[in-house]
Amino acid sequence: MTSDALRRRVEFYRDLGFTYLYRRPSAESLVSPAVEIAAAEPESSMDSLFELPPITPPGDTLAKIREDIGDCKRCRLCEQRTNIVFGSGNEKSPVVFVGEGPGADEDEQGLPFVGKAGQLLTQMIDNTAAKEGMPIRRPDVYIANVVKCRPPGNRTPERDEMEMCGQFLARQLEAIRPKAIVCLGGTAGKALLDLKEGITKARGQWYKWRDIPVMLTYHPSYLLRNQSKELRREVWEDLKKAFHFVYG
Ligand code: URA
Repeated sequence: MTSDALRRRVEFYRDLGFTYLYRRPSAESLVSPAVEIAAAEPESSMDSLFELPPITPPGDTLAKIREDIGDCKRCRLCEQRTNIVFGSGNEKSPVVFVGEGPGADEDEQGLPFVGKAGQLLTQMIDNTAAKEGMPIRRPDVYIANVVKCRPPGNRTPERDEMEMCGQFLARQLEAIRPKAIVCLGGTAGKALLDLKEGITKARGQWYKWRDIPVMLTYHPSYLLRNQSKELRREVWEDLKKAFHFVYG
């Protein structure tokens, strides 16, 4: 394991609230003497943060996770951000929507999906629920992103940025424990499901993140760029499936 990966691993455990780490006798020296290792883990999972063991601190809460994020400087995305966009909505929601990362409006306001794509997401949620006769509106669900700081120029987040920030998304999802997750777009699909296929082929099907069912659909920004009735119909079908599973 490289020293950078090791540093990130130790920081990960520190963020989870582990102050003591115990070191297996056969392992190379993993940590500074100030930190003894308390959580044993399989050697095979040591290289990828995407393969982190499903550890969350006991009694983890969204407030604690936000506190642990602090004024985050763990990756380069901190350099140009205005606000960290943690997530918003009903903290007990049975469904969590996961987007890619904040855009300019979100960065400015510190809230997810408040710009044009956000307005479309609100319509997607509210209209699907209304058509299906469900009394669900956007404030009833929880919305978060894979990365919590705006990637400059709205570029796609890099893998290491998603790995670093993904640990907090994982904790948010474990703290909420929704009945289902809706991934908006291929980047969220890659982060949570390690999806290899394109979104057009992969959408509309059920997957699993840990033991939580995941529905994959198009990102609202994609719908804004491709004004097609067919795409909107497909999103409606996908959300319908998710909502009937969750609230049906
Ligand atoms: N796009 C996203 O993926 N997330 C937001 O919060 C806004 C736009």
